[in-house]
Amino acid sequence: MSVAIAAQPAPSVGAVSFLDRPARLLIGGEWVQSESGRTISVVDPATGAIVASVADADRTDVDRAVAAAREAFEQGPWPRMLPAERQALIWRLGDLIEQHADELCELESIDNGKTKFMASVVDIPATREYLRYMAGWATKIEGSTFDISVGAPPGSRFETSTRRHPVGVVAQIIPWNFPLLMAAWKLGPALAAGCTCVLKPAEQTPLTALRLGELVMEAGFPPGVVNVLTGYGETAGAALVSHPGVDKVAFTGSGEVGKIINKSATNTLKRVSLELGGKSPVIVLPDADVETVIGGAAQAIFFNAGQVCAAGSRLYAHKKIYDRVVEGVSAAADAIRLGPGLDPETEMGPLVSREQQDRVMGYVDSGREEGAELVTGGESLEHPGCFVKPTVLANVNANMRVVQEEIFGPVLVAQPFDDIDEVAALANATPYGLSASIWSNDLRAVHRLVPKVKAGTVWVNCHSFVDANMPFGGFKQSGFGREHGRTGIEMYTELQSVCMLV
Ligand code: ADP
Ligand code: MG
Repeated sequence: MSVAIAAQPAPSVGAVSFLDRPARLLIGGEWVQSESGRTISVVDPATGAIVASVADADRTDVDRAVAAAREAFEQGPWPRMLPAERQALIWRLGDLIEQHADELCELESIDNGKTKFMASVVDIPATREYLRYMAGWATKIEGSTFDISVGAPPGSRFETSTRRHPVGVVAQIIPWNFPLLMAAWKLGPALAAGCTCVLKPAEQTPLTALRLGELVMEAGFPPGVVNVLTGYGETAGAALVSHPGVDKVAFTGSGEVGKIINKSATNTLKRVSLELGGKSPVIVLPDADVETVIGGAAQAIFFNAGQVCAAGSRLYAHKKIYDRVVEGVSAAADAIRLGPGLDPETEMGPLVSREQQDRVMGYVDSGREEGAELVTGGESLEHPGCFVKPTVLANVNANMRVVQEEIFGPVLVAQPFDDIDEVAALANATPYGLSASIWSNDLRAVHRLVPKVKAGTVWVNCHSFVDANMPFGGFKQSGFGREHGRTGIEMYTELQSVCMLV
């Protein structure tokens, strides 16, 4: 299929100078080579060109990074600093993100494929605000006091309370869809709680994590508090997860890898939090305003080319309005302008990699083979970049792979329904439970439906809105633990009870 794709504009001088830096890991406050000297090529998915190379960390590098994080935790000032000092440093990191926003947007676009525009309105400001929000938590971590009913020795009194301690050294393994924002979601609460970190970005998108490492040092964090290892999941990632010196693993990524990580972490009973995939339903009740729903449903699936864990990838519209909704979302899909991320005219960039493009196209083909009706899209472009046309598959059923499995691309599946109990059952009929949205102004119907939906977040008349203060995480196989807010901080602490006989 041939659609004219514009040429990728040249990045700015600042971004180019970063791309030309030697391949290094951040360990103990120093930029060092990997022991093996091996590197990984970084590809711009809009052009297929190699734009940089980064270090390929292996087990020895993991040992060094964990040792540095351990030393910073046990001997360094970080967990013992005044909370206000930790707060100031995390806030300063947010300031540095703001100062270097334009360069970070370009790097994110070149690395992931997303548009620079989207990075400038979503990824980078959200990263800055996330760090600022979590900076504030450093000074607000608290326990409680309470009375107990131990009656011996007779007449005794107790002072009883809880306090929270940082959990220790944390390994943080993140995906490629929002590389810098995911780094902030992991580092922000861990640092606020007083933990030290080894961050491993996805092998497809290591650039902004490395740039963030530079900004961490510029902000003045003590050495070893944040270590950044670039490397593959099966080597560097696996070595981190099984490492006895790691106290907690925080992971965002695929369900398949989440299960491997959970098993491996069991050897030393590490704390584990997992934010895995989703197959989130968009449920449109019969009273909904069709025009509003069309815009909302298109945004829910096509934002970030569908590479969003909370993407609204299953559309269930009431049979009264189903045809109009499917037609409208398909027309919206057709109108999206594909192109390279640095081109200001582009509305949707390429997928992150050839592998992801092949995976998504494999799903489209399987859907057609299983009898889904292709309404629009369903093609990848003949181009060195990894472009896939926004796709709508209609009249699917719950047994199809395209309905059961996370595609992580711009592919929507649609099915009509008749009543609320039926749609609740359909919504829950996958192994996932990350999120859902309901579109309606019928208050009674919405309130009846929300508790039936097994999902960590239910949006009403919106989709994919996340906030640092709103817990986020999955029911069922979408993982466990909740990021953000108080619960996000608690995941990086151990609770200690203090019982004093007075
Ligand atoms: P995808 O298959 O879409 O790339 P993954 O879940 O494989 O998603 O990747 C998410 C993150 O998990 C990446 O940082 C990747 O390197 C890492 N990863 C992959 N496999 C493993 C593993 N066996 N152990 C630890 N981390 C892994
Ligand atoms: Mg994988």
